[in-house]
Amino acid sequence: ATPTSIMVGTGRAAELGVLFRKSEALQQLRDVKVVAFDKTGTLTQGKPTLTDLILDDDFEHDEVLALVAAVEAKSEHPIGDAIVAAAEKAGLTLGAVTDFQAVSGHGVTARVDSRLVSIGSQRHLGHLDFSDFAEAIDRLADEGKTPVFAAIDDKLAAAIVVADTVKPSSKAVIAALHAMGLKTAMISGDNRRTAQAIARQLGIDEVRAEVLPADKVATLKGLRQLGPVAYVGDGINDAPALAEADIGIAVGTGTDAAIESADVVMLGGDLKGVLNALTVSRATMGNIW
Ligand code: ADP
Ligand code: MG
Repeated sequence: ATPTSIMVGTGRAAELGVLFRKSEALQQLRDVKVVAFDKTGTLTQGKPTLTDLILDDDFEHDEVLALVAAVEAKSEHPIGDAIVAAAEKAGLTLGAVTDFQAVSGHGVTARVDSRLVSIGSQRHLGHLDFSDFAEAIDRLADEGKTPVFAAIDDKLAAAIVVADTVKPSSKAVIAALHAMGLKTAMISGDNRRTAQAIARQLGIDEVRAEVLPADKVATLKGLRQLGPVAYVGDGINDAPALAEADIGIAVGTGTDAAIESADVVMLGGDLKGVLNALTVSRATMGNIW
């Protein structure tokens, strides 16, 4: 492609709401074989709501919800927002929180009044026995919902289930990528069954689940065995993967860290920008496959 055609290409992309931050990105995008997506906030809206609270017999609903919401009010995770919103809706009063600790990719722990409260993945509460919850949790996870667990004074008190919705365009974008001859992948920190259920709903080829924030880059490198990879993400946690990918594509509604690390930025939250970027790249650079 000539410098002029690259200028025309980036201009055309801008009209379609896709900003190429450097001209090499047009060429690199043409050569991509795999498009990998972050799940939460990228393929999904990233605004989950609480759908189920499954209690252990020794605990009481409002007490557990108030304790976990008090802790989650200090967290910045969307799961925390869902729990706090549910407690507010129920009109619960939240106790005073001390010793708050967030473990990235795992969960949160704090003291509320005199109680020790932990909320997070099974891994976060690794030493507890989850067998009473297993059947219900697997069923809900198979519907694409995310289960987390609450321990109070080191006893498993409840499974708390939140559900996020996929963006309206996600499924069609995945299908269109396949029609363009590309493979698709999803990388998520979420529960394996949950991630697999969402990938199945969307028709995504490859799923990497329960990936800790620190392991996203290594997971992305693994996908490179399939060919050059474009990574699409929105979060602070996605910034290293956006930088590492052959092409990083940030969701416009994402965090500043994601946008600054990306080669391409789509305006707004709609994933159709990925298709627009690929189409302009192929039109500008010519098809080589
Ligand atoms: P994702 O962006 O895919 O949700 P994260 O790395 O942020 O991935 O979180 C991975 C998992 O860690 C969540 O699915 C949840 O099980 C647990 N987790 C992290 N933070 C919290 C929190 N504040 N409250 C409850 N669970 C949490
Ligand atoms: Mg995200």
